[in-house]
Amino acid sequence: MSTNRTDDRREMLRVSGAAVVAAGLMSTSLLQPKEAGAARAKAPHWVMIMDLRRCMGCRACTVACKAEYDVPLGAFKTVVKQVVTGKYPDTRRTTIPRRCNHCEGTEKVGKMTVPPCVKVCPEYPKDRRVFITPEGKKIRYRGGATYKRPDGLILLDNDSCTGCGKCIDACPYGARTFNKRKAAGKDKSKHAIVKCTSCVHRLDEGVTPACVNTCAAGARIFGDLNDPDSEVARLAREFKLLENRDKTTMKPEAKTMPNIFYIDPDGVLADYSFDEKDKLAEYRDIVE
Ligand code: SF4
Ligand code: SF4
Repeated sequence: MSTNRTDDRREMLRVSGAAVVAAGLMSTSLLQPKEAGAARAKAPHWVMIMDLRRCMGCRACTVACKAEYDVPLGAFKTVVKQVVTGKYPDTRRTTIPRRCNHCEGTEKVGKMTVPPCVKVCPEYPKDRRVFITPEGKKIRYRGGATYKRPDGLILLDNDSCTGCGKCIDACPYGARTFNKRKAAGKDKSKHAIVKCTSCVHRLDEGVTPACVNTCAAGARIFGDLNDPDSEVARLAREFKLLENRDKTTMKPEAKTMPNIFYIDPDGVLADYSFDEKDKLAEYRDIVE
């Protein structure tokens, strides 16, 4: 049975992380203590908000992600796409950061709703896992080669992966691809899967994802929606992000219930055109 962490390790990291921040010696941002406290009673609900008013298209996030994970050549876990609106000469370019949406999903497997990438995984829900909340409460759930954690993260366990690629086909966004540098755990003749994990290794230690940490414009805002005092909850209320999912999330017609929201006052998301013929091109970052 796997757990997300051990209490001792978490406590040690929380204390040492707070001390470093207090000393002002580390540039890495920690999740706010208030958020962590409010999330204690239950699992957090991690969401990311992309503020399109702030994104400058610098791609520091893409580079930070590549560095954090040693993402293989040709694959990306986060990209910055663009939409051009208006008519020449009165045109405008808006840059749109993207990553796996860590979708809620609408299909139930056991007690959880899961997104299509999890639903199709032949290795789900084969194993048993335990999620430990910040106050140490244990939540039991089912895992697999691709699975959903109680805090909403959609994760991978390469040890159980057969490399069948069904999850790549099932994701409507093209957010997954094969990692051509790594073999699938259960079938070494196939490739492993690569996609954004929301920097789960950092998150479990109270540290924000690398893309959020590096975004100088503050266009990526990450936090716990279950905490009414968090920045993400405040923005969600202000911009009615949950009520207007058809305008604040990517490809709402796919009905996957994304946990990545956009602040998009000019409605440019509606002009975003997906590459339906080659959806994997959606997660190749080509600078024009
Ligand atoms: S964006 Fe795709 S890979 Fe990510 S959770 Fe949604 S369906 Fe799965
Ligand atoms: S490639 Fe791996 S994670 Fe994806 S569906 Fe197949 S077994 Fe599951």
